Amino acid sequence: MTLLDGKQIAATIRAELREEIDALRQAGHRVPCLAVVIVGENPASVTYVRNKMRACEEVGIRVERIALPDTVSEEELLAEVHRLNADPAIDGFIVQLPLPAHINESTILSAIDYRKDVDGLTPENVGRTVQGQPSIVSATPRGIRELLARYNIPTAGKHVVVIGRSNIVGKPVAMLLMQRPYLSLPGMSAASLGDATVTICHSKTQDLAAICRTADIIIVAAGSPGLLTADMVRPGATIIDVGINRVPTTNDQRLTTNDQRPATKLVGDVDFENVAPKAAYITPVPGGVGPMTIVSLLQNTLQAYNEHS
Ligand code: NDP
Repeated sequence: MTLLDGKQIAATIRAELREEIDALRQAGHRVPCLAVVIVGENPASVTYVRNKMRACEEVGIRVERIALPDTVSEEELLAEVHRLNADPAIDGFIVQLPLPAHINESTILSAIDYRKDVDGLTPENVGRTVQGQPSIVSATPRGIRELLARYNIPTAGKHVVVIGRSNIVGKPVAMLLMQRPYLSLPGMSAASLGDATVTICHSKTQDLAAICRTADIIIVAAGSPGLLTADMVRPGATIIDVGINRVPTTNDQRLTTNDQRPATKLVGDVDFENVAPKAAYITPVPGGVGPMTIVSLLQNTLQAYNEHS
């Protein structure tokens, strides 16, 4: 079994990005700029935004944080989106999800100019991805594809089972891996990147275990700890665990003694201990898909800068 070390691969990619951005600066060009819009103070969102900003700063991407109160109206948020669409100094921006209940996420996402949509969530970018046109691919699917590529795990002709049909992970990753390949990534020929036979499963799927047992690659994005068990996995399969779940633990991971929250730990959707010995490759949680998602956002920002600045 080989661990797919997303943390390590993401560090390698960050070093590559830093080099590219340093070269831009040395050539007298302005550096790429990402804006991050955060509404309210959802603790998970605050942490995600902080990690994204840190990663940007590490590679030399300029980053602007726009914090709005959770009382902001949909119209006010839309006005901010239009302002960012029109600002030539901003190459890309994201609106951190989830948004407060009184704001329609789809209305907001649809208003983002697809050329600046570095989360790859606008209908325009999703449609382009579906049609195999150049697009900005959403961060987690892009990160998964890159992780497979960097470990030279081909998808062509393989049976990929995706558990989960969300707009941010399940659907786009399925689309990406089934495509006729048209992009090349470092270290891998374009021919090995798409062309998978993909099955998408969800909560109404019958006999999930039997379907999973026919998979060469299983991508689990359900948000359900321990969902993928060893009996569902064929020996030698590749397992990509997207899930991020906080579960109670006796092993305290709290960062400070002032932290009054109950002791929890992060786990994925895979029963890692029992699945790992059967797998050829498997991502850990944390340290697998998570770091790849963040680094994909940086790659998308540089892509937007290169294509449209
Ligand atoms: P959603 O809740 O939007 O979607 C979950 C999907 O999983 C749904 O399609 C649901 O089916 C399906 N599902 C849930 N339970 C089961 C089950 N028992 N059997 C089969 N299918 C099931 O989640 P997201 O896609 O947004 O996220 C999924 C997980 O990935 C979460 O834990 C999230 O935190 C994590 N995540 C991690 C990222 C990373 O960078 N590592 C990035 C994004 C998400 P149905 O449609 O029928 O309800």
